[in-house]
Amino acid sequence: MANIPEISLCSGDRTMPIMGMGTASYPPVDSEIVKAAVLDAIKVGYRHFDSAFAYGSEKPLGEAIAEALRLGLIKSRDELFITSKLWCSFADRDLVVPALKMSLRNLQLDYLDLYLIHHPLRVSQEASQTPFQKEHLIPIDLKSVWEGMEECQKLGLTKSIGVSNFSCKKLDEILSFAKIPPAVNQVEVNPLWQQKQLIEYCKEKGIHITGYSPLGANGTKWGDNRIVESQVLEEIAQAKGKTAAQVALRWVYEQGVSIVAKSFNKERMKQNLQIFDWSLTEEESKKISQLPQRKGVLFASIFGPHDLILELDAEI
Ligand code: NAP
Repeated sequence: MANIPEISLCSGDRTMPIMGMGTASYPPVDSEIVKAAVLDAIKVGYRHFDSAFAYGSEKPLGEAIAEALRLGLIKSRDELFITSKLWCSFADRDLVVPALKMSLRNLQLDYLDLYLIHHPLRVSQEASQTPFQKEHLIPIDLKSVWEGMEECQKLGLTKSIGVSNFSCKKLDEILSFAKIPPAVNQVEVNPLWQQKQLIEYCKEKGIHITGYSPLGANGTKWGDNRIVESQVLEEIAQAKGKTAAQVALRWVYEQGVSIVAKSFNKERMKQNLQIFDWSLTEEESKKISQLPQRKGVLFASIFGPHDLILELDAEI
C-alpha cells in the first residue's frame, strides 16, 4: 500500500494525509458509483476524503465508510480524515452549526476532521444552480459566519475549520477577527493555475493550502485536458517513466501544498498515489513554473460573469 506523507494543521489534534480523494463528480453519477469508488480508494490506501454538501457525495461517502468498517478495511473511523464544506446558502451565523449537523447526519459520523466555508459568498435559498445570478447574492457577514465555524470546532463537531476559494484579501479580513485562525484554504492549484502569491501569503500566515483540480478537472464542464495532455508535462513524464498526471501531482506536492484529486477508476487512483518516492529536477520544476497561466476557469464557470467575480473579490 502507498506510503502517504501526513502534515499537522495549526488546529485539530490529528494529521492530514497529503493526498486526498475528491468525491465531486461531473457529470453527477449515481450514488452507488461514488460509494464503490470510495471503497476502492480505501482498499488502495486513501485515508483522506474531500466532500461537500453541494457535491451530494456526503451520503454515499458515509455509506462507504460504514461498509469499510463492516468489512474490516479500517478498524475505526479515526483512521480517516474527512472534510466537508458549508454551502453558500447556509453562510449565515445561525445556519452554520445546523448545516454541519446535517452534513454529519448525511455522513453517519459524529465529527468531521475539517469543515470549510466553501466560498466567500452567501446566496439566497432560491439559488439552486450555478452559475449564480447577481440577484441571488446576499452580502456575507464573514465575521459572524466565522464565529459559527468556531462554535462548530468548540462543540467538537469538527477537529479543524478552514476556508475555500479565499483570496489574500479575504484571508486578511478573516484573520483580523478570528479567535481560531483558518487551518486550511482549499483552492485550485495546478501547473496552469499556480497561485504563487497566495501560496506565499498562506505560508507566512501558517494557513495550509490544499489544491483542488490538480489535474485541471479534465472531463468536467469547468475543466479541460490541457494538463493531462500538456506537451511539457508529457516530455518530463516520458523521461522519468511517469505519466503527465503524476508529474502535475508531484509538482503540486513540491509547492508545499496537499492535494485532493478525483478519480473513480481504480488504476488511476493507484497511479495518483505513486508520487512520493521520486522528485522533479530543478530544471523540470522551472519548465513547469514557466507554463502560461490560464487562471480561474473553474471559478468563472461557477460564478458566471466577470463583473460578478470581481465583486466577489476572487483571484482571477
Ligand atoms: P481533478 O482531480 O483535477 O480531475 C479529475 C478528472 O481527471 C476526472 O475526470 C478523472 O477521471 C481524471 N483523472 C484522474 N486521475 C487521472 C490520471 N491519473 N490520468 C488522467 N486523468 C485522470 O479535478 P476535480 O475533480 O475538479 O478536483 C478534485 C476534487 O477537488 C473534487 O472531486 C472535489 O473534491 C475538490 N474540489 C473542490 C472545489 C472547491 O471549490 N473547494 C472545487 C472543485 C473541486 P476518472 O475519474 O475517470 O479517473
